[in-house]
Amino acid sequence: MDILTKKVKGTEDILPKDSHKWQFVERIMHEEAAVNGFKEIRTPVFEHTVLFNRSVGEATDVVQKEMYTFDTKGGESITLRPEGTAGAARAYLEHAIYNDGLPVKVFYQLTCYRYEKAQAGRQREFHQFGMETYGASDAKADAEIICAANNIFERLGLENIHLELNSIGCKNCRGNYTSALKEYFSDHISDLCETCVSRLERNPMRILDCKNESCKKIAEEAPVVLDFICDDCSEHFSKVKSFLNASEVKYTVNPKIVRGLDYYTKTVFEFVTDTIGAQGTVCGGGRYDGLIEELGGQPTPALGFAMGIERLLMVMDAENITIPDNDVTDLYIAALGDDAEMKAFSLTQELRKSSVATEIDIVGRGLRAQMKYANKINARFSMVIGENDLESGTVKVKNMSTGECFDAPLDDKFIETFVKNTFDTIRFGDSAIDEVLVKSISGFLNSDKNGDNNE
Ligand code: ATP
Ligand code: MG
Repeated sequence: MDILTKKVKGTEDILPKDSHKWQFVERIMHEEAAVNGFKEIRTPVFEHTVLFNRSVGEATDVVQKEMYTFDTKGGESITLRPEGTAGAARAYLEHAIYNDGLPVKVFYQLTCYRYEKAQAGRQREFHQFGMETYGASDAKADAEIICAANNIFERLGLENIHLELNSIGCKNCRGNYTSALKEYFSDHISDLCETCVSRLERNPMRILDCKNESCKKIAEEAPVVLDFICDDCSEHFSKVKSFLNASEVKYTVNPKIVRGLDYYTKTVFEFVTDTIGAQGTVCGGGRYDGLIEELGGQPTPALGFAMGIERLLMVMDAENITIPDNDVTDLYIAALGDDAEMKAFSLTQELRKSSVATEIDIVGRGLRAQMKYANKINARFSMVIGENDLESGTVKVKNMSTGECFDAPLDDKFIETFVKNTFDTIRFGDSAIDEVLVKSISGFLNSDKNGDNNE
């Protein structure tokens, strides 16, 4: 196929027939963020490379193998964001958002870029939704953010997804664990991949999430971090579990979870499923109390999670969860003759201003074909304006599913009459759009009531 019409490997198009699914899950995510008091942050697609080296970590797969890094014409090293936490933390510091008062709670929804082996559930451009809290050290903050992720899955009706929880301790208790890992892996050095051999000195915990089969096998028997965490971390972890228990959030403790990025401390978690094949981690997150300081800020406890939207949609598919379609045409207007066409066009503009989704023919179809088309796009109502309707000043509006009709005047009372007669049928699903609609029609309804009172 001609390269001009072929997408780049590892990227996907979200087609018009599927975009409503994305909008639906995004709306649920934004709603959950809002009720938890998280505000949206939008950061650039690219950042200075050093930001990711420093925050994601030099010894991680992401930094060592997966980043899209290039020099600009001005000679700056730039990287397409592989994840959202680093950019949000950078913005938090750059704009001193902490001055607005702590905690600061933000959410993001963005594209990420990782040069990985493209396969189902693993792309080179993919989408994440994430939530981050800055300035909260309490275990309630961990539980709050885990509950929020859990609620998103619940709101979406997902059943085959479960929470795995672990604590990887703080800087203070990490030392002993790192030594134990070094000792263990040194005994198996000849079976480790090249990257992991180099990790042995720098950051042996990274060996635990290497994807290489031989490394994975050795890692199975490695010492587990929960045996090494200090009393403080252990108490924090117990509290997180208690808050989750109190909220009836189910989880299993999985001492093997260490997460793929360097900045995590204490609580780490993943939401996993076995319904979509090998790439079964839908959401990952945890506490990263050292990151803000690492980037030059005051010591600031922080935590967050990111979920992959592609994988989430795959789970929904696997669970046969249907997402409401968003065919929104309230009214299809066909017209016969030049004057009627003119009237249909101007009326359409007026209807759209009142948020009534209206369609007219713009490709030159005949009347029969137009009616077929109105059916195809699931228009709730249709009408045909002919010369005689223009003369009589009245038009018949037809309910496309029942076949019932009502008359409406072809003057400035048209919209009022239309909305009153179709109130129960036209779309009220999309709150943002419908607020406008409700406002515009509540005027009519109130004037109606007042009219009654005056009589
Ligand atoms: P994995 O172990 O599958 O590579 P990860 O630990 O690298 O995942 P994170 O950095 O924690 O992933 O990103 C959070 C979420 O983003 C993942 O749980 C997953 O849902 C999604 N994700 C990560 N990488 C990809 C990718 N290449 N394609 C699609 N989704 C991804
Ligand atoms: Mg990865």
